[in-house]
Amino acid sequence: MSARILIAEDHADSLALMQYLLSAHGYTTISAPDGERALHEAHAQLPDLIICDLQMPKLSGFEVVSALRQDVRTEAIPVIAVTAFSMLGDREKVLSAGFNGYFSKPIEPDRFVAQVEPFLPKALRAVRASGG
Ligand code: MN
Repeated sequence: MSARILIAEDHADSLALMQYLLSAHGYTTISAPDGERALHEAHAQLPDLIICDLQMPKLSGFEVVSALRQDVRTEAIPVIAVTAFSMLGDREKVLSAGFNGYFSKPIEPDRFVAQVEPFLPKALRAVRASGG
């Protein structure tokens, strides 16, 4: 069994790349091109993990994670921020806003899935640690 992962991202190329990489490892992806749709899909699908761009139309990633954390249905879903802004101090701001983790863009295709998987329960990971 592998996880269902919601990807909230307004840049089509970044979204397609993340979808491709996760699908290639057996994950089911759900996509949302803006913050409102991300919240809708989070409530409708209750994904195992959410990957969330910070700058999106309608609702920012910060607004999305805030709403998720205030709703009992979604408060425990891990949410990883992905942003092009990698200024010093961003990481603390992101983590204190309620995100569980933080990646900066551009996505690194060779590392992306390995970066995502620690945020999933072990039983839902497609890629096992070597030697197991
Ligand atoms: Mn964006």
